[in-house]
Amino acid sequence: MVNYMKRRNFLTGLATLGVAPHLGISAEIKRANLKITKVEVLQITGKNKRKMLYLKLHTNEGITGLYGPIDNEAAMFVDRFFKQRLIGQDPLAYEAYWDKMFRASRHSRGSHYIMALSAVDNALWDLRGRFFGQPVYRLLGGSRNKLRAYASCLGFSQEPSALQAKARELKQQGYRHQKWFVRDRGPSSGPTGVEEDVKVVRLLRDAVGDDVDLMFDAFWKWDLQYALAWTRRAEQYRPRWIEEPFQTANLDAFIELSRETSIPVATGEHFYSRYDVHKFLKADAIMVVQADPEWCGGVSELVKICTLATVHGVNVIPHGHSLHAAMHVVASQPIEVCPLVEYLIQKMNSYYDFEKHQPRPINGILELSDRPGFGIELDDSKIADIRPVSWQQT
Ligand SMILES: [Mg+2]
Repeated sequence: MVNYMKRRNFLTGLATLGVAPHLGISAEIKRANLKITKVEVLQITGKNKRKMLYLKLHTNEGITGLYGPIDNEAAMFVDRFFKQRLIGQDPLAYEAYWDKMFRASRHSRGSHYIMALSAVDNALWDLRGRFFGQPVYRLLGGSRNKLRAYASCLGFSQEPSALQAKARELKQQGYRHQKWFVRDRGPSSGPTGVEEDVKVVRLLRDAVGDDVDLMFDAFWKWDLQYALAWTRRAEQYRPRWIEEPFQTANLDAFIELSRETSIPVATGEHFYSRYDVHKFLKADAIMVVQADPEWCGGVSELVKICTLATVHGVNVIPHGHSLHAAMHVVASQPIEVCPLVEYLIQKMNSYYDFEKHQPRPINGILELSDRPGFGIELDDSKIADIRPVSWQQT
């Protein structure tokens, strides 16, 4: 009903602009002649003093796009590079725009540039969702709004009894998949390092039994010898994947490890664009792609990465440092391609503090609403101040 009313208001608005509401939808859109008129990076300060950045796009029709929180590095590049280039842009024409921006700088292939392009792309998706009165995952062709979340257990104690108690508690809460971190040790830990990291796996398997998938993230801390030693001994406990054993730059080590172990190897939160992903997939280096839609080029790019993944028969399970874009892409894809969403238990406690509708799994399931775009609505009761910020050099 809400969407219907918004659409009615929109059509009424068009009528006042001289656009007859009886026109077909394509005619309405053509006549709407949407253009971006203003770009704002908004710094939101909470009553708790916490600060977050959101990107807001305005149009000549009054429809806006909102995305956040966005990273500082992205915000600065949006302000310095994309802001002026967005003015006058047709927000419905995203494919050509993305390509144009990817060609617009010789440094566009990675890092802060493509993080900024991701923020812009995601805000444009939100804007389009609000324009069409549909959630992003529906615009992308999705049909499911319930997504299975995996518990991402960064920050919890690894003291054996606390580790096992938390794993059991999460299982009780409905998490059938849990990811734990083995990043405190590595090649410099001496002969006991691998032993300790295998012990974490054994303790967890003992705690949750056989009906919970266990994944492990080494956060770039290992080398090939350490990874081989760990995988040989951990295989008996059937991990669902080992994530980022090496730096993303070390493609050869990923290839070698994947050849030697039956444990699926995962990486991708530091992939920039489909071109990075392609290098790993054609080399059979990984079985799980974890590209992050706020770092890899946005929703538009992650959808392409999903298509690429289907060609190679691997999963895309996006990195979950942030959730809106990741959830909508996962919901837009077949469950066989994107079976899970990462949910960082500790971080997500407060990450969406400034939003009315915070993603919270119930019994391990995240549910998407039918609010248009990403459905982000700021919660004024938590906000002390909102102001545009700028990094423009004077
Ligand atoms: Mg990770």
